[in-house]
Amino acid sequence: MEDSRAIIVGASHASAQLCASLRQEGWAGEILLIGDEPSLPYHRPPLSKTYLAGEATLAELLIRKPDFYDKQRVTFRQARVTHVGLQAREIRLADGATLSYDKLVLCLGARPRRLTLPGADLAGVHYLRDAADIEAIREGLGTTKQAVIVGAGYIGLEAAASLRHLGVAATVLETADRVLQRVTAPEVSTFFERVHREEGVDLRVGVGVAALEGEDRVRGVRLTNGELVAADMVIVGIGVVPNVELALDAGLAVDDGVVIDACGRTSDPDVFAAGDCANYFDQRYGRRLRLESVPNAVEQAKSVAAAVCGKEKEIAALPWFWSDQYDINLQIAGLNVGHDQVILRGDPSEGRGFSCFYLAGGKVIAADCVNRPQEFMFSKRAIATELKLDLAQLADPATELKSLLLTPAAG
Ligand SMILES: Cc1cc2nc3c(=O)[nH]c(=O)nc-3n(C[C@H](O)[C@H](O)[C@H](O)COP(=O)(O)OP(=O)(O)OC[C@H]3O[C@@H](n4cnc5c(N)ncnc54)[C@H](O)[C@@H]3O)c2cc1C
Repeated sequence: MEDSRAIIVGASHASAQLCASLRQEGWAGEILLIGDEPSLPYHRPPLSKTYLAGEATLAELLIRKPDFYDKQRVTFRQARVTHVGLQAREIRLADGATLSYDKLVLCLGARPRRLTLPGADLAGVHYLRDAADIEAIREGLGTTKQAVIVGAGYIGLEAAASLRHLGVAATVLETADRVLQRVTAPEVSTFFERVHREEGVDLRVGVGVAALEGEDRVRGVRLTNGELVAADMVIVGIGVVPNVELALDAGLAVDDGVVIDACGRTSDPDVFAAGDCANYFDQRYGRRLRLESVPNAVEQAKSVAAAVCGKEKEIAALPWFWSDQYDINLQIAGLNVGHDQVILRGDPSEGRGFSCFYLAGGKVIAADCVNRPQEFMFSKRAIATELKLDLAQLADPATELKSLLLTPAAG
């Protein structure tokens, strides 16, 4: 109906997709996009890569140019939404204004988990989530001789790579006994540790951070073993927490994210959610998941757009992710949860190209492909079709992958 209004909260990856998909699915009414950042939705992944390295402008990062929103008749308003009233079907903005909706989509994303140690609020301590965070880091880089990165997940490692690219000395501190522990096999962690050390990063695993020290601004990181690591900038990358407060306050079901069904509907029939803030049931992996990736935000947005228009389009795409560090493009297909076997194709202990396949019951369920785009494409197909493979052939770089797809092992 042309006089209906859909409000999207959060100018995000999911919402950029929604603006296109809502029209494709036949939404004829008003679309109001409300975000608390000053910009239209922009690509977040380059923030820790080319944007931090000063090789891209924010205008270049826009997911869709301003005229796209004009053409789709989408109105953008910069404001923070502070309240959702489900009964009245209205939202309140920080300036007190209220707006009614017919359909509401929450694309609230996530925010960095904060350090809660002494000194965590000192000047020179940074997080990585939005363009403003990167601009603050870049401003500080002129006077930075030694940066310390707390956390060796993807964001921390990408930040280290960008800083090394800029010639800044970088130390990475990780509490776990290997980098990327939560998400990869030990072989993949060892590979990334070697690469970062080859690139000049002082990488320390199995170290605890006790405090950040300094007078007016940070000057060092005190480890739990008493050592002081000098730092004139600290970047914290210790994970994110979903932005669920609006949903909680409204009375929507929340459980590590806004709970949505297979089509993106929340516990209220007129409210939907997508992206980092949403927790859905994944049929393939048989469990509820909250994913933090661009492909996930985009795929969920497509399902939500259909649901807003009264159609059913289940969230079914295979999860995938990527990370760029130095000359390495890591592509990850699927989730390795519950794997019982790891097969390597290529040697991670030398060079910069190999794949690590994760199997459960003899079937590939996930793969980390380092500079191996074809193996990534193969993995996506093998996972989607639940192909059973000859493992010796899979491990042998001489075997053509295409032949594996054509002649699956019996059983
Ligand atoms: C530095 C960095 C690097 C990354 N690299 C990769 C990568 O290589 N590959 C990959 O797949 N993913 C990567 N990601 C993750 C990816 O960017 C996220 O998964 C994706 O942005 C999630 O999109 P979203 O639509 O859920 O919300 P987001 O893009 O997080 O946007 C949510 C928006 O909602 C706004 N908002 C929240 N609450 C309110 C409110 N109450 N009122 C108004 N606005 C509100 C937020 O300020 C934000 O602008 C990276 C993320 C970061 C930060």
